[in-house]
This record gives sequence, structure tokens and C-alpha cells, in this order.
Amino acid sequence: MRFRVIRVACNARGILKTMNARIAFAVIPCLALLLACSESKPASAAASPVAAPAAGSTATQQPAAAPPAQPQTPAGPARPAMRFNAERTMQYTREIVAFGPRYNGTAALEKVRQYLLAHLKDDQVEQDSFTADTPAGKQHMVNIIAKFPGSKDGIIVVASHYETNYWLRNIHFVGANDGACTSAMLLELANQLRGRKLEGYSVWLVWDDGEESVSGQWSDADSLYGTKHLAAKWQQDGTIKKIKGLFIADMLGGSDLHVLRDTNSTPWLEDLVYQAASDLGYQSHFFQESGAEEDDHLPFARMGVPVSDLISVPFGYNDAYHHTVEDTLDKLSTRSLQISGETVTEAIRLLNQR
Ligand SMILES: [Zn+2]
Repeated sequence: MRFRVIRVACNARGILKTMNARIAFAVIPCLALLLACSESKPASAAASPVAAPAAGSTATQQPAAAPPAQPQTPAGPARPAMRFNAERTMQYTREIVAFGPRYNGTAALEKVRQYLLAHLKDDQVEQDSFTADTPAGKQHMVNIIAKFPGSKDGIIVVASHYETNYWLRNIHFVGANDGACTSAMLLELANQLRGRKLEGYSVWLVWDDGEESVSGQWSDADSLYGTKHLAAKWQQDGTIKKIKGLFIADMLGGSDLHVLRDTNSTPWLEDLVYQAASDLGYQSHFFQESGAEEDDHLPFARMGVPVSDLISVPFGYNDAYHHTVEDTLDKLSTRSLQISGETVTEAIRLLNQR
């Protein structure tokens, strides 16, 4: 049922549109705005960073910020805002795309892993390697996790898949929007987090493998290999309980950015994302429509983790670019990457205040 309403190139996403979705989401943003207004947020909040600078930075010379609205937010010196660099994100996207199709078993996929690891060489990185049983046999997969320790007990996770679809191996599918640009976005988030003393929760960035189905017939068994593996591992080692919120970034670079409000995500975390977007003046790109997404957040949601799947679908008119040879760099915009990257950054900041 989930694939009947919007025609998609494959079964990889389920979009359940309700007839009154537009009406419903004309109301919900208003409610969110009312909530945001009632919290008397300081005017400078949107410009505040998620992280404090490392000792010795020039930040302390800046004028003091307005006092935080929420009592649990520690007062601190003014800090320069994190400046999400969308141009650099686009450059990373170009470089990832240049490796060519990166489906399971290709040299290109291994090169992308090495590319990501090279960018993270100064960070605390963990590789979660495993063998997945797929309809095409056993496949080697690797989740890459970069950990940026905070001062508060708890973890905020931002994840993106990086591989392209095995079942699209016979076409030149490079997933510029689907996998590449959000992997690039995480590299840029790492740039922002690196070398700062995080005053909030730890931030873990996850480049997960095996999000896509292998057969092209999306099912619980044939999809989300990387995040199912990671969620099980984190449940076993106790990490799951420490996660305060998990954001999935997927297909956020398309020039027509319209992030869906996902009904499989945690409502309060979706509200927080909407507040983050509104703080920055980007709310028109968010939640005009709703849908039930099956994406990398689901394995964590099933374990009780607050999750938010940030995905802009359809991609192109009638989803024409999704999982086709049309998913190329020319369909992306730096502006969309800026909006997405800043909104995720602001959402992290708001989650730290909660
Ligand atoms: Zn996809």
C-alpha cells in the first residue's frame, strides 16, 4: 500500500499520503509556531552554536550572548556560530560521486570508505564491519562511526547511508542526492564539531552501509542492513539507552527541498526539527506534507530511540530522479545543502537545551 500513492522508481521508500495531509500540515506548523513563541526564546538563539570553541579560540572576545531561556542551559561565554559550509559539502559530494556507482562489492564503495576515513583521520572513529545475508548472497558491509565527545551524559546521532543500490548495478546510478550529498553533509558536520569543546551531549556521526534493498523488492528482511546491525550492537552494549535523539539525513540536496514530516518518526523530535527550521527562517522547506517513511531510523525507533527521518521526497517531478540515472550533481543545490545542514545543526543545539 505504501507505494501506491506516489509512483516511485522502486520500493525503497514508502510514502503514505492522506487526502487531508495539506490541511493537517497547515495546522501543525501553526501549533509548532505557537509552542515556539510561548517559550520566549532569545533572539540570538538561532545564531548560537551547538558547541563551544576549544580553549584559546578567539570566541571569548565576542560580546556576551543573551541569557538562555531554559533554566537547564548552562550560561557560558559567547561563541561563534558553527558555520556550516555548503560549498565545501558540495565539493565533497562531487568527490564521492566521482568514484562512480558504489554498490556492495565494488572497488568504488571501498574507495568511498577510505575517502571518508581519510577525512576523519584526526577523529575518534570506529568501524563496524559485518557480513550481511542478502538475496544476492553474503555481502561485506561497514558502518563508520565518528564520535565527538560532549560534556553531558548522552549521545546525539546523525546518520546517512553512503552506498548506492546493488539492484541498480546495470545502470550508471551514482546517487548524488541519494547517499552522496548527505554523506558529504556529515563530513562537513565533522568539520564543525572537530576541535571544539562540546558543552552538550556527545555527537556521533554515522555513515551507514546497506540501507538500500539488494533485490529491489524492499522488505523488512531486505533493507536497512547497516542500521539493523548497528542498532542490535548498540542495544547489546548499552549505547541505545544513552541516545537522546537520532537524525537520519537522506536525499537533502535536491534543488527543490521539501522535507517530509515522517509519521514513523518521533513526534516531539519532528516538532523540534520544525522549530529549528523556523528559527532559521527555513520552515517553508519543511513538513508541508506528511508520509510514512521506511528508512534508517526504523531499527532504532523499534528500540525506543527518539528518531527523526529527514528526507525530501519526491525527488524531481513525480519522483522522476529517484533511483534513476537522473540522480546526478546537476539536480543538487548548494542552497538546499545549506538549509539542511544548518537545520540539523540547530536541531542538535535545541536538543541539547531540552
Ligand atoms: Zn535510495
